Amino acid sequence: MKVEQRILLVDDKRANLVALESLLEELDVQLLSATSGPEALSLLLKHDISLVLLDVQMPDMDGYEVAELMRSRKQTRTIPIIFVTAINHEETHIFKGYESGGVEFLSKPIEPYILTSKVKVFLELDKQKRLLEHSLNQVQQLKNRNDLLLRSVGEGIIGIDSEGVITFANPAAEMILDYELEELVTLSVGQCVMVTTINPENFIWEKSKIYEKCRTGEKHHSDVGVFRTKHHKMIPVEYTATPVSKPDGEFTDVVLIFKDITERKKIEDQLNYMAQYDALTGLGNRNLFNDALETSILRANHSKDSFALMFIDLDRFKQVNDSLGHEAGDTLLKDVTDRLNSCVRNSDVVCRLGGDEFTIILEGHNIHSAAVRVSEKVLRFLSIPFSVENQKIYIGASIGIVFYPDMANDANELVKNADMAMYQAKRDGRNCFKIFEPNMKQQVEEALDLETKLRHSNERKDFFLHYQPKVRVSDGKIMGVEALLRWQPDGDMISPVVFIPLAEETGLIQTIGEWVIEETCRQLSVWKQRYHLPEDFSASVNLSVKQLNDDSVIHILERQLEEHELSASLLEVEITETVVMEKTDQNLKVLCDIHNLGISIALDDFGTGYSSMSYLTQLPLNVLKIDRSFVNDMETVQGAAIVKAVVALAKGLSLKVVAEGVETKEQLVRLKELSCDYVQGFYYSKPLANDVLEKRFSEDFGYRGESKI
Ligand code: C2E
Ligand code: MG
Ligand code: MG
Repeated sequence: MKVEQRILLVDDKRANLVALESLLEELDVQLLSATSGPEALSLLLKHDISLVLLDVQMPDMDGYEVAELMRSRKQTRTIPIIFVTAINHEETHIFKGYESGGVEFLSKPIEPYILTSKVKVFLELDKQKRLLEHSLNQVQQLKNRNDLLLRSVGEGIIGIDSEGVITFANPAAEMILDYELEELVTLSVGQCVMVTTINPENFIWEKSKIYEKCRTGEKHHSDVGVFRTKHHKMIPVEYTATPVSKPDGEFTDVVLIFKDITERKKIEDQLNYMAQYDALTGLGNRNLFNDALETSILRANHSKDSFALMFIDLDRFKQVNDSLGHEAGDTLLKDVTDRLNSCVRNSDVVCRLGGDEFTIILEGHNIHSAAVRVSEKVLRFLSIPFSVENQKIYIGASIGIVFYPDMANDANELVKNADMAMYQAKRDGRNCFKIFEPNMKQQVEEALDLETKLRHSNERKDFFLHYQPKVRVSDGKIMGVEALLRWQPDGDMISPVVFIPLAEETGLIQTIGEWVIEETCRQLSVWKQRYHLPEDFSASVNLSVKQLNDDSVIHILERQLEEHELSASLLEVEITETVVMEKTDQNLKVLCDIHNLGISIALDDFGTGYSSMSYLTQLPLNVLKIDRSFVNDMETVQGAAIVKAVVALAKGLSLKVVAEGVETKEQLVRLKELSCDYVQGFYYSKPLANDVLEKRFSEDFGYRGESKI
């Protein structure tokens, strides 16, 4: 640093001033001069002066007076003065000079060498003083900056000495720990602030992790610390302890920087919750399920007990979701959750894996019978209609059960087998439970194989139809046929009871169903040309409830009738009671549109489902088909009573009645007695290939009026 210095020369005689100036010229300083005391004082106030050379004898104000005034002012008090005097070196003068603040005397005539060497000494002292002031200034600035930093950071900072006593704290530390600064300083950090799980009552600083690390010169960091506030509140903190060491490596202090992470912890807890629980139902999600399953396995291995895993899949959830919307679907899932919870004990773990898939892990004694009991209860509870948006909704569920350790070795296998058992329950007509069996694997593989074949056949339209005549009881006349789908992949006939549900599950039913309509209409137009079909003749096609989920079936029917120039009365559609159970606005609308086209609608397999009588009046029906099982039961008094009641009901509602599955003459006679108008069954005819049927057509329509009774 370059130090600028100035010397003030004061003498009433200009010649003296010039002499002094020439003597001091060689020095690297600025020279100022004054010819009187007042002028000197005014220059002193204006400039930063390092040294004053002051003549003692001056008129008006002598050198001593000037010195006294300089000493009385703060700004000039410490400026060194060298008195220059012609007066003899009498002691009184010298003392007066010292009293007034002068620090050196030079007598005239001045010896140049003495003058310059004395001046140099004072200038050097002044220079050192200025350098020191500058350094002090810088230190102060640094301190101010650090103070500002410590005060403004959000993190708490405390200084701890090597004994574990707090020596310093910043405002954030005071705030977080709820102490005043004075209270914090001198506290033992171990006893008052830090909370440890190990030996909490007897905290020994020298055994703490911070001490151990800092002793070796390392930092110590923790994400999961707990500090205690003045009012004994525990707060989660994240902290870093850094040692401050002497040059020899021994640590003297520790700086502890910490952050209150209460908020972060809350968010973390929330995230943890979200990662483990399903937001909609509050049940555990897949993550929690996986953890719970592993825990149950460990527990079972340890206790040698068994536990059960149940996989529950709702049967008709997708339809509800698709037709009533997601909000209704959500409400339904919450209601299902409530019912599931009411089927189990608190200790059982119910989870939702996603969509309409739920799981229950059951533990306890007699686990086999407990699992069966709970499954029956779940099925019973879920078969009670739900009320969503003022509509009654029927759901039902399919349940797969697997036991550990009997039926699986690990979590993976448990899940796979439970899923397989559930799949089997679905294939077995739904709304039931199945306990896992080893041969299910094969069955599932077969089902998957079947699915591949069905897709393949669908692409090539590799299906055909058989037609079963419907006969009028009064005269034995064929009044129509029912088109029944046939599929014979690899030469083996597979029953529609097997592949129709598969087609429904895979969505293939839409295109397969379309083909059935097309083929029936094509066939109808051929028959119409070849035979004198009776006036009320109709061919019926079976419609899956899935085909009623959108409008496309209406357009297909309309197009086919038009293309083949068929009157709508030639066509009939058969729907099952599932439609009644899932009576959604969409289904109802499609049915009404079909009805409005002039196509009649038959309710198939009547009596097997859950349809209540009142629904019959709400659907646009023309025909009621009594299920085969009732016809079968007709020999019993109750069976006969049911058929009689159904016939009466249908007639009351102006519906035609068709009895299905009539196999014997006795059944036919009984039905005739009960005033059933039409029958269908092996007694008259099995479903026939078209060439055989056409022979019957030519015969029957040729021998009109002849009855087999
Ligand atoms: P469904 O509509 O009730 O058809 C009557 C079923 O009963 C036919 O079985 C028929 O062969 C059988 N059957 C008729 N008379 C008798 C009898 O006297 N005794 C006995 N034991 N059975 C008789 P199939 O052809 O196996 O069809 C089974 C079911 O598959 C049908 O029941 C229908 O629900 C469904 N299905 C058939 N074709 C189609 C189709 O093209 N589309 C749809 N969605 N479903 C179809
Ligand atoms: Mg049918
Ligand atoms: Mg039927």
